[in-house]
Amino acid sequence: MSDFLITTIMKPSYLFKHSWLIAIFSLSAAISYAQDQNSDEALNALKEGNKRFCSGQLLHTHQDLSRIDELKTGQKPFAIVVSCSDSRVTPEIVFDQGLGDIFSIRTAGNVMADYEEGSIEYAAEHLGTKLIIVMGHTSCGAVKAFMDIKHSHENRDAHHTEKLGHIESIIQKLDSEEEENEVFKTEGDVYNRAIIANVIHGVKQLRKSEPFLKEMHEDGGIQIVGAIYHIESGEVEFLNI
Ligand SMILES: [Zn+2]
Repeated sequence: MSDFLITTIMKPSYLFKHSWLIAIFSLSAAISYAQDQNSDEALNALKEGNKRFCSGQLLHTHQDLSRIDELKTGQKPFAIVVSCSDSRVTPEIVFDQGLGDIFSIRTAGNVMADYEEGSIEYAAEHLGTKLIIVMGHTSCGAVKAFMDIKHSHENRDAHHTEKLGHIESIIQKLDSEEEENEVFKTEGDVYNRAIIANVIHGVKQLRKSEPFLKEMHEDGGIQIVGAIYHIESGEVEFLNI
């Protein structure tokens, strides 16, 4: 701010005449502060919201017309959630949140390419959102399709005869993930491990995403967390990645 503006604004006559302006600034600061949680507070808010969802004691906050009024002039979501497009995995519902709370990015298999990373960068850079969750889910059809095509000769043959359309690009994205391919080198519950591996890949992808997210994560400005939503119980399990 220039010296002229500082000295002008600080004059008592200006303060009196423009007290309405100061009141508006104060009010907007208070509204911003209300959503201006650090990443730990944001993570805790999601955990508490999921507990309410699982126990059936939902608050349904920020889901009425007064919230629409609050958000007319802008948004300040406290979390970015990257999740699957699956109709059973809706972040606002499973975390008991409302309008303006979650910046939501959804693709089948929660895969991310440039469009998705650009959307995340927008929220982190311009909206000040400090928490990013990459959330896979049990019984994910996209991961199952990838596994069927990659590892079953029968399905591999079917793949060659049937058109997959743009789904193929999702399969190829999963196939390009190192973590995803590691899963198949050992026996056991390959399906669930593949779902987790895809989340681990997503978290690592964002942590090294240049030019913004990598730097913000290394500086501690944002937290990038992995999670699995259990469609059988409604519980979100946070992963230690
Ligand atoms: Zn899915």
